[in-house]
Amino acid sequence: MIGGDLKVARRGLMFILSSPSGAGKTTLSNRLLDKDGEMVLSVSATTRTRRPGEAHGKDYFFVSEDEFTRMRDEGEFLEWANVFGHYYGTPRNLVEQTLSQGKDVLFDIDWQGAQQLAQVSGEDVVKVFILPPSREELERRLRKRAQDPEEIVQKRMAKADAEMSHWAEYDYVIVNYEIDESEDLLRAILFGERLKRRRQIGLAEIVKEMMGEE
Ligand code: 5GP
Repeated sequence: MIGGDLKVARRGLMFILSSPSGAGKTTLSNRLLDKDGEMVLSVSATTRTRRPGEAHGKDYFFVSEDEFTRMRDEGEFLEWANVFGHYYGTPRNLVEQTLSQGKDVLFDIDWQGAQQLAQVSGEDVVKVFILPPSREELERRLRKRAQDPEEIVQKRMAKADAEMSHWAEYDYVIVNYEIDESEDLLRAILFGERLKRRRQIGLAEIVKEMMGEE
């Protein structure tokens, strides 16, 4: 497995994962977070209702529309968007604190959020899109999730199409054929990006010493 802490001081990066739901993004982000001590998840605020099993402060900060509007107007969000009728926003504080410690932030946000973060923080942003292995498999996964009426499943497929239409705006795309393999690929991207020269801000000092310069 690709891994381990890098020794050279570096600048943190903003690692964005987008995908239609059902493509495996949540599993992949959990695996990354579980095994990587240098990455934290950005927990968004949302006005949608909590689903069974979700925890306030862990999966989302569940807030009212009034509270969301207040946070937005007071500049507490780095980006925000309306995603299929509900508001979602990325709180600024945790992101800024984490980056200043030279650690990375993982974002599970849609294409609108990815675009906005790239505009605000271009240099620090790495955007990865996860695609399902096939349309049939995506549909199977969306059906498996819950025994929903056909109409709801078709609505989910339409949402997936809307999200997938933005695949070409991303730096990297992984087709999730097999979850262990996709995890390795994702980690390869992460470490490649961490090793970019401009992010390794401790290098100049190290090389100077190596070369015997004052
Ligand atoms: P869900 O309600 O299923 O958890 O998420 C719906 C969509 O909203 C997903 O595509 C998710 O990535 C996106 N999303 C979650 N949090 C944010 C956020 O803070 N900003 C934006 N732009 N999208 C978000």
